[in-house]
Amino acid sequence: MDPKFGPYAKQELAKGFRAALIARQVFLPKGHFALDAEYHASGFFQSKLALVNPEILAVAAEFIAAEIAMVAAEVEMLVAPPGCGIALTTLAAASLTKQPRRYAPLVVHAIAQGGGLDFFPAFRSTLEGRKAVVVEWFCDGRNNGTALAEAASHTGAEILAVAAVWNAGPTRQTLRGVPILAAIEEEFELFPADNCPLCRSGQPVDAERGAGPEFVEARLALAL
Ligand SMILES: [Zn+2]
Repeated sequence: MDPKFGPYAKQELAKGFRAALIARQVFLPKGHFALDAEYHASGFFQSKLALVNPEILAVAAEFIAAEIAMVAAEVEMLVAPPGCGIALTTLAAASLTKQPRRYAPLVVHAIAQGGGLDFFPAFRSTLEGRKAVVVEWFCDGRNNGTALAEAASHTGAEILAVAAVWNAGPTRQTLRGVPILAAIEEEFELFPADNCPLCRSGQPVDAERGAGPEFVEARLALAL
């Protein structure tokens, strides 16, 4: 195991990482957020904002690499979601090639197709029969993480783990026996916007932080 990530060191790093995510408003663990027109939530995570913070991206990739090294050292491939996850997965693969780990997994990414996820034919055939870890920014025990793991397993890959920055689903959970590894494990709740208990209880939607696409655009404009 990487000595930097012994159990206590990891706890301390995870605490610092969580605080840095909150300070940069990438991760907001408590509140009442309008994620989009359909969903309200008690937590918020925005991977687009993580991408414009190079230090956040680097630490996230280190966490993912360290978790993979501990649990899935025989990994041959890392599977990225479409979009923002490709940068994270590529950096995690680069971290795995450094000492003391020195694995060199290949990175492939999924594409969005017909409302689901699929892979380019060349990626499909490369995944077949390989030991793979699925990488996600955010795993919610519903669609996030699950859909990518399922798409990857349909190629014939053996999925060793799902590695995420934040697991907001039930902690220490597995996806049909596949462990979910995460830097942050904190459950959050997602509600339909038209039937939200936080709205019913009179708690106003947080209009300054995490209020949908406008918030993200404004934060991106500040960061760039
Ligand atoms: Zn609400």
